Amino acid sequence: MKTLIVDNPLSIAHHMPEGHPEHAGRYEAVRTALKSVGPLDWAEATPCSTDAVTRFHPPEHVSRVLAAAQAAGTGLVSLDPDTHVCERSAETALAAVGGTCMAVDHVIADRYQAAFIASRPPGHHAEPDRAMGFCLFNMVALGALHALDVHGLERVAIIDIDVHHGNGTQCLAETDERVFFASIHQAPLYPGTGQAHETGLNGNIVNVPMPGGTGSTAWRAALERDVLPALRAFDPQMVFVSAGFDAHADDPVGGFELTDEDFGWVASELGFVARKHASARLVAVLEGGYDCDALGRSAACFVRALSEV
Ligand SMILES: [Zn+2]
Repeated sequence: MKTLIVDNPLSIAHHMPEGHPEHAGRYEAVRTALKSVGPLDWAEATPCSTDAVTRFHPPEHVSRVLAAAQAAGTGLVSLDPDTHVCERSAETALAAVGGTCMAVDHVIADRYQAAFIASRPPGHHAEPDRAMGFCLFNMVALGALHALDVHGLERVAIIDIDVHHGNGTQCLAETDERVFFASIHQAPLYPGTGQAHETGLNGNIVNVPMPGGTGSTAWRAALERDVLPALRAFDPQMVFVSAGFDAHADDPVGGFELTDEDFGWVASELGFVARKHASARLVAVLEGGYDCDALGRSAACFVRALSEV
């Protein structure tokens, strides 16, 4: 699939406290690794309007993030114990959303079949009215709503492969049956949601919790058994991926034992579904991944595989 990288250079302007795992080096590692993948087209993300963010987040949430950034001055304002905002964080998060919507526009216009958004902070923990787990705005939920409400698609799927459950994104599928959401994640682990009995509206949510220590064989088998058939049955018109790489064995936050190649494998599998069911439309958004070397290598494997589907 012809693949576009959407780059959010503002990612380096979003500061966290010293020692925080979600730091600018993550973005730089991904960017450097993706440059080595080969001849891909790159586009620069630009901030979206705050109105675009209110497709998922109520105006009060958007105002809270903007006000926190304004109040930060040369310091940081905390929105929860893990989630902090500096003076440029709101602008950075708006560009992450803008870049995701830009990717959706390109893919629906068939200029590209796949796009990967290289950006931070991550977004999948952000609930409609709550910033949490390093996340301010939920890019993948907003990208899905952009495809549905602006482009008129009727069914989109979001697959979350981050080691943490995408609780924020699940909130969208809980109230919108146009959205299929599947998450494979470690349990027990933050944020504590994503049990198998959380199945949404008419089964449009599939949660696959797995124990710490889960390795390649069990992870791939669970995706083949529980996620891919349900995804095909939903027959999406576009596939989104919350592409977190913290399920890698080297990751200091997650407890799974995946390899670089597992991320290439899942990109191929999801790319095949996108080709067969979704007019070859796939948009992947960077979520977690906290060992910079493993993160860069895994993202490169993912994007290379996507471009070769
Ligand atoms: Zn994560």
